[in-house]
Order: sequence, then C-alpha cells, then structure tokens
Amino acid sequence: MRTSAEYYADLVKMKPNLYIGGERVGRNDPRIKPGINVMSVTFDLAQDPEWEELMTTISSLTGKRINRFTHLPQNPYDLMQKQKMVRLTAQRVGGCIQRCMGMDALIALSIATREMDDKYGTEYNRRFMDYLKGYQRKNLTAACAQTDMKGDRIKRPSEQADPDAYVHIVEIRDDGIVVRGAKISITMAAYADEIIVVPTRALREEDEDYAVAFAIPADWEGVHLITRPVSVRERKKIKCPFAEMGVSDSMVVFDDAFIPKERVFMCKEWEFGRRLALLFADSHRHSYTGCKPAVSDILCGATALVAEANNIEKVAHVRQKLSEFAGGAELAYAAGIASALYGERTSSGTFFPNVIYANVGRRLMGETIYHEFNILSEIAGGLAVTLPYEDDFHSQETKSWLDKYIVRNPKIPPEVSHRIWRLVENLSASGMAAWYEIAGVHGGGSPIMETIALNIDYDYEFRKNVAKYLAGINKELDQTKILKEKPTFGRELF
Ligand SMILES: Cc1cc2nc3c(=O)[nH]c(=O)nc-3n(C[C@H](O)[C@H](O)[C@H](O)COP(=O)(O)OP(=O)(O)OC[C@H]3O[C@@H](n4cnc5c(N)ncnc54)[C@H](O)[C@@H]3O)c2cc1C
Repeated sequence: MRTSAEYYADLVKMKPNLYIGGERVGRNDPRIKPGINVMSVTFDLAQDPEWEELMTTISSLTGKRINRFTHLPQNPYDLMQKQKMVRLTAQRVGGCIQRCMGMDALIALSIATREMDDKYGTEYNRRFMDYLKGYQRKNLTAACAQTDMKGDRIKRPSEQADPDAYVHIVEIRDDGIVVRGAKISITMAAYADEIIVVPTRALREEDEDYAVAFAIPADWEGVHLITRPVSVRERKKIKCPFAEMGVSDSMVVFDDAFIPKERVFMCKEWEFGRRLALLFADSHRHSYTGCKPAVSDILCGATALVAEANNIEKVAHVRQKLSEFAGGAELAYAAGIASALYGERTSSGTFFPNVIYANVGRRLMGETIYHEFNILSEIAGGLAVTLPYEDDFHSQETKSWLDKYIVRNPKIPPEVSHRIWRLVENLSASGMAAWYEIAGVHGGGSPIMETIALNIDYDYEFRKNVAKYLAGINKELDQTKILKEKPTFGRELF
C-alpha cells in the first residue's frame, strides 16, 4: 500500500497548475503543506497495526487489502467502520479529514453507473470498476468536484446568461469528450491525485450537456486550480499537532479539457443528474455523522480544558453546557449507525446508508455548530481573541509578565496554560475557526438541501394516516411499511 512519503513524492512530481495569491506554484508550496499533513494521517494510520483493522479492508473487487478510503461498502458493518474511521481520523487532524469526499464520490459512481447501464445499455459501470481497481491498487486520493459556479441561483443550467456557469460537455469525440466550466470550493483538489466530477443538481432534457461525470488526474491538461489555503499562524516553539494541519479549497477551471472515454462515467444522461448528485450528497452526509461528532469532541475537549484553566470546571452551568456537546455529537453519531443498520444493498452490490438517518444526523450538526462555538467562547472568556502573540511569550522583555499572568488555575504551569489558550485561540478565533463554522453549515450541502432530501424520502402521508386513525377518520392503520421494517444487520436477531 502506498505510504504517505510515496504519496508526497508523487504529488511534487505533478505539473504546477496551482495558482495561489497571484503566482503559479507547484505542490511543494509550503502553503498547502498543512492539507498534505492531513492527508498523510490517512496513510500513516493504515500502516499502524493498532488501527489496521479499521483503516484497511479487503477489496470487494480484487480480494486484496486496501485503504478503507478507497473501499465500496458491502454491508452495514462496512458503513459503521467507515463512520468510525472518519471520526477517529478527524479527531487526529483537528477536524475535516477531507479524503472522504473522494470516497463518497466513488460510492455514488459505483451505484449510478450500474443504474445507467441497466437503463441505457451503456458501459459506464465496467469503465468505472476498471478505474476503481487502479485507484485501489495505487491507494489514490481524490477530491470530489460537485459544486458548480451556478451563476444566477434561480436559473437552471441551460437558462444561464453564461452557459459555462455549470461544467458542461462542449464536444463529443470518438475517443472522449471536451468539457468547459468551473467548480468552486473544492476541498483538497490542490493535493489530491485525482479530481472526480459529478453533477450538482437535478437536470432537465434541455440541460443534457450538463449531465457529465468523469475523473482525471488533478494536473490534467486544461485543468487549472485557483487555490485558497487556510491554516493557523505558524508556531515557533510551542509546536502541536493542531497547528500542523490545515486545508486548501480550489476553484477548479476546466478550460476545454479533453477527457478520455475510459474516464467518462456519465455523458448526457440527464435523467440521472439528480440521482448521482444525491447519491454523493447522501453518502457524504453519512460521512458527516462521523466527522461532525469529531468536531464536537474537539470543541468539547477544548471547552473542558479551558474551564479547568479558569478553575470553573465544577460550576453547574459549565457541566450543563458540556453535556450539550455530548447530546449533539452522540445523537448525530447514533443517526449514522442507524443509517448503516437500515441501509440497503443497491443493484451494483454497494451497500448504501439509509438517507433519512444520514440527513437528520447531518442537519442536526449543521444547526448546532455555531451554538457549540458559542459555548466554547462563553466558557473561555475574551482572552481567546486577545491573547498576545506567541513571540511575546518567548521575548526576554515580556516573558516573565506573560508567564506570571497567563496562569489562572495555580495547578496549571505557565507553558501548559499558554498551550491551552493558544489552542482555544486557534479553534475559535482564527481563519481556521471561520472555515469550520462555514463548513459546518454548507459543507455537504446547505441546510435547505437536507430539508429537500428529507422531503423526498420521509413519508408524511403515513404520519397523516396515524393522525387520521386517531381522529377516527380512518379505521385502518397500515404500519407494515414503517414499523415492521427491520435493520439489515443482524436481521436474524429480530
Ligand atoms: C468549507 C467548504 C468546503 C466545501 N468543499 C466542497 C467540496 O469538496 N466539493 C464540492 O463539490 N463542494 C464543496 N463545498 C461546497 C458546498 O457543497 C456548497 O457550499 C453548498 O452546496 C452550498 O452551495 P453554494 O455555496 O453555492 O451556496 P448557494 O447554493 O448559493 O446557497 C446560498 C443560499 O441560496 C439559497 N439558494 C440557492 N439556490 C436557490 C434556489 N434555486 N432557490 C432558492 N434558494 C436558493 C440556498 O438555500 C442558500 O440559503 C464546500 C463548501 C464549504 C463551505
């Protein structure tokens, strides 16, 4: 299995198609290193005997051991392991593990390509599985580029003043297609081996040119990445894991890029636009039931730590507020487990999470994210945003004052107190903090998208019938569909 060192060696060999702050740079640019460090954790833990069982598994395609981030779940256990892996790795890197985007795109494509072939007699599934075998063998990483620029939000792709507002097919050749347009907010594209493109919304017949899915190496001809790195201020002396991590998001421009046929997985099948978009989004929301509880774990831990630094950890309102983290995180995590247990096998063989539980879990965390930051700020006090710079803690002129006054709880020595406050500053008052706040709301789809997904699948008629039965309007109450449903996993136990 490729190691993190080999991954990095491959990255720096890639063509320099990144633009950061007005210059064209290679993948050895230090500004994207914090994101590379995050990715490296997904390789390193897979080599660690303690985590091998969780981080690796046997490929359903080749029978070989692979990194779980490249795996297609085959049963509820696989989905639960995926969720657990995301929570574990997210705790290690201080939040977003990023590599799940590509994993969820692979899962979505494995299903949609099978369904398109069944309907149109195409050969997308064979092409995709060939692609995936290579992907698993090489232990690749991928960004998922779904979000288009979208132009005027009210207009559909084919109605836009600029036809390039959504990525679309401009030419079909015998050996492939040519695509144009741009995707925005694409996490990890700058340090991914591959970029996987899927549609962002439901499409109509007149939008058929916008029904396109494909995968290409991230430095492909005609592909340009305008990249925004985010990380916390570099530590000089008090180094720590959180300060080594970060993220980069890119606008990915497709400037008449040629995509070879073997890498095209959807070409004008507009009726599957919504299906593929939702398959990715719903799979990703299941991943969120792992990573968002991890973000809560981190904020909860920092709140408990800073409460100790303030010597208020036993105060009643602090205990009550800490329990709110537990309430949100574990409900969302439980929703992910339910989503796995009540998932279903698709015609492709891939096991897919139950979308109701995945969406309610993700929506809950999207709704509570600002509240969680609020709790941390409330318990920490104002120092989180007024803490003097690290250099002043090391300067001979100011060190003695800062070491003396940073201590609030006499049981905590100056350097540990400083480390706690520096982490709280990084978590709640930095560019990285703002990234997590907005990612918590919009990543994986804005809250309205979860509401739409719930309204597609949640059976309101059944609930209405319950009320009608109780009101004496209906004599029959058919509960077979919902209440007799059994989880797939451990069915024999019920
Ligand atoms: C940190 C971060 C990381 C991300 N990473 C990725 C990634 O790796 N890959 C990826 O593909 N995407 C990624 N995204 C994009 C994310 O999926 C989108 O931000 C999200 O889907 C919302 O889209 P938008 O930003 O274009 O907002 P918009 O869709 O413009 O939403 C803004 C508001 O307009 C409303 N709105 C939009 N359209 C309509 C309409 N037709 N009618 C009524 N109201 C409307 C929305 O409900 C919302 O309230 C990321 C986003 C963030 C913040």
